[in-house]
Amino acid sequence: MHLFWHQRDLRLRDNRGLHAAASDGPVVPVFVYDTDFLEHVGPRQRAFFLRGVRSLQRSYREGGSDLLVRTGAASEVLPEVADELDADTVVYNEHYRPARRARQQRVETACDRAGLDTITETDLVLVDPGRLDDRYPNHSQFHNDWQAVPKSAPYPAPEGSELLTFDSSETVPVPDCDIDLPDAGYRAARERYDAFLDEGIYSYNDTRDDLPAAVERPTRAVSRMSPYVAAGMIGLRELWRDATAVHDAVDGHERRNVRKYRYELSWREQNYHLLYYNPDLPTENYKSLPNAIEWRDAPEDFETWKRGETGYPLVDAGMRQLREEGYVHNRPRQVVASFLTKHLLVDWRKGRRHFAAQLVDHDPASNAGNWQWIASTGTDSVDVRIFDPVSQLSKYDDGARFVKAYVPELADVPADKVVDWPTLSAEERDRLAPAYPDPVVDRNEGYERAQRVFEQALGKR
Ligand SMILES: Cc1cc2nc3c(=O)[nH]c(=O)nc-3n(C[C@H](O)[C@H](O)[C@H](O)COP(=O)(O)OP(=O)(O)OC[C@H]3O[C@@H](n4cnc5c(N)ncnc54)[C@H](O)[C@@H]3O)c2cc1C
Repeated sequence: MHLFWHQRDLRLRDNRGLHAAASDGPVVPVFVYDTDFLEHVGPRQRAFFLRGVRSLQRSYREGGSDLLVRTGAASEVLPEVADELDADTVVYNEHYRPARRARQQRVETACDRAGLDTITETDLVLVDPGRLDDRYPNHSQFHNDWQAVPKSAPYPAPEGSELLTFDSSETVPVPDCDIDLPDAGYRAARERYDAFLDEGIYSYNDTRDDLPAAVERPTRAVSRMSPYVAAGMIGLRELWRDATAVHDAVDGHERRNVRKYRYELSWREQNYHLLYYNPDLPTENYKSLPNAIEWRDAPEDFETWKRGETGYPLVDAGMRQLREEGYVHNRPRQVVASFLTKHLLVDWRKGRRHFAAQLVDHDPASNAGNWQWIASTGTDSVDVRIFDPVSQLSKYDDGARFVKAYVPELADVPADKVVDWPTLSAEERDRLAPAYPDPVVDRNEGYERAQRVFEQALGKR
């Protein structure tokens, strides 16, 4: 008999490790409630994740089985449970985050000592990073190789007969959360994806950067699947199969839109590829620069950024969306990260940690990979990229709909003035919206300072 150890893969369908364990069944699914380990997860994501564990347990029970929940350290609990149930093998899906790798290593050692076999499967990416080169100069070259690898079909959920029948009285607690969370679990993930497949995906490329659409139709303009994907509440092969079916059924403009959605998933895959080969991606610069970047030690500016009070409307709207929803649309996500690391010259690691603590969709690979890309320490092929927060607003939200949805101080200010806010005179700003802060840094000075510091780091000055 096998134990299947559920980690960040809270689903029965399209779960490669669970499928492998059940095919050689019977299997007992186990979730280890490890409070020390869960300290690594931000409180909002933790609350969402634990709701997902409850939902998973309900799914098992509906099928006449159960999810065995035990409290403690995985390296102690799993051998104990195996001993109790006379299981001979522990099967799990491999995770690449450093803390999870260390935990998996402790489990491997403990199982080995107890005479148990372990089997690991690649589940959380479409393409096993080990099948690709270890380093790519840019995303296009990664994408070319990644695209050429055939993608597996989703794995079926285990049959009832493959699961051991038992009743577990233990479950996980569900902590309160300071924000409204999306419904957790596979069913909620599937409903959200079905709604996106019915409508949003056909125009995804046209709407993915459309910030007014993100306010009016938040789960159509983009998928907003990221919290579910990050918690493993839906499988990647299932997402890919269904998007591919839509892609193959349409042509022309619609097909290009659908193709873009599939292409975006390859960014996530590349970030996992980076983390797989560079376990220190969350803490060390990926790119080696000839000189150190002269980051500013500016705790007050960092706090101003966190509060969404920088006086740059799109930055503040993004940071307030993060505070209120635990989610930020990708466009402002890029703009707030660029503003912190370039205009304010605050080290990307501080921003990464703040996102990890606040996001419901926090993903160790995508968070670190994207912060590094934006900070010009990662895989971006442009030497120094600096997003201009004024032109970004003018291009993607010229009617200031998105900004006004999150920054009520600017609700009555004409849209063109919101867009130009950091360039208005102090008197005009005071007359239009006295409660809204002045810019924390001059737009041109911030830009030029960042350019100077990064050119020094690159050895160009
Ligand atoms: C500084 C910064 C930090 C980020 N941190 C995270 C994070 O912690 N977790 C996370 O899931 N995404 C992160 N992203 C990527 C991206 O912003 C989100 O994946 C996206 O906004 C999620 O919303 P969605 O599901 O509606 O995306 P959609 O637009 O519907 O995209 C579909 C899917 O493609 C993937 N995807 C799209 N863009 C990216 C990208 N740039 N990198 C990786 N995957 C991508 C995601 O899995 C996403 O769910 C970060 C981006 C930046 C700039």
